[in-house]
Amino acid sequence: MARKKRTKKTETGMEKFVFPPIPKPVEYKGRFSREGRSLIVVLDAGHGGFDTGAVADYKGTRIMEKDLTRAIVSYITKHIADDPNIAWFLTRKGDEFVGLSARTKELDRIKADLFLSIHINAAPLDRKGEAQGMEAYIARMDDEVSYSIAEELLTALAEGTSLLLREEPIKANDNLRVLHNSIRVLDNSRQSYSRLRPLQRGNKRLGTPGVLLEIGFIDSEDLDYLLCEGNLELIGQIIAERLKDLAGRMKGV
Ligand SMILES: [Zn+2]
Repeated sequence: MARKKRTKKTETGMEKFVFPPIPKPVEYKGRFSREGRSLIVVLDAGHGGFDTGAVADYKGTRIMEKDLTRAIVSYITKHIADDPNIAWFLTRKGDEFVGLSARTKELDRIKADLFLSIHINAAPLDRKGEAQGMEAYIARMDDEVSYSIAEELLTALAEGTSLLLREEPIKANDNLRVLHNSIRVLDNSRQSYSRLRPLQRGNKRLGTPGVLLEIGFIDSEDLDYLLCEGNLELIGQIIAERLKDLAGRMKGV
């Protein structure tokens, strides 16, 4: 079968960008059990359904954050699927709306070790195009486990892609509240979940470690990179490699 072209000619002869098909995520079929699985991760593709997240026009096509995040999460699942140490739970599998509390509902039941939320940033309206790069949000700066995972993910993404790191790449949630509701998910998860898991030994009061990644700005040249063939998969693959490494290190903890 011929490979689908990423642009098509419109009636006026202009090249119009065509958003690549989003692969279905690989679903985890096993039980969420400690037996044999050293890392249980909740993968959260930001936004969905009527909640498009940030939007931008790219060569005549409306690009929505919800599609970029879903594609990245699908690629993460593709690249962790063969790892015997990881179990994963998806907060959404397609383009459906999922409320914030629903996103963390299963954290307790599946005894998750990590909540990982994927987002794409957007600058405020009056500063469009002025900001670019990646950053991560964690619930509190003194949450050392979440901080170190955020640092590890950002470092790997900065090394493996041409996306830059923001000047202050890891922030606590207070700054984010105005931009995204999702950070409340992190707060909620911390209140409802206090089980001591290997990942958070010595950090019990903080609950499930959580990291919200903002992978570039949709209204900057970051979007050129994100929409370049293969780069969304590369990002998913890099995150997957870090999760595999983490799972390997947690084995036997
Ligand atoms: Zn978002």
